Amino acid sequence: MPVYRYAPVKCPCKLCGEGFDHRHEASEPALSACPTCGQTVNRVTVQAVNTPKLLAPLSIAKAKQAGFTVFKRISDTELERQ
Ligand SMILES: [Zn+2]
Repeated sequence: MPVYRYAPVKCPCKLCGEGFDHRHEASEPALSACPTCGQTVNRVTVQAVNTPKLLAPLSIAKAKQAGFTVFKRISDTELERQ
């Protein structure tokens, strides 16, 4: 399941900072409001964390060089920014 990054329109938000990550099926509609503060949010990037390429150390380094945020899966429901 892909992880989507959302950023509040008034950034940074007092409650959710510069945004948050939300995981849902690609077929589901994007969030329109922050679940924490209710502010309108925009989806800013799409992360395909299940892509095998991103799990290889070399690719992570390349992804970081390219300016992507790399996440490590630490459990079924949690991701850790690297
Ligand atoms: Zn918020």
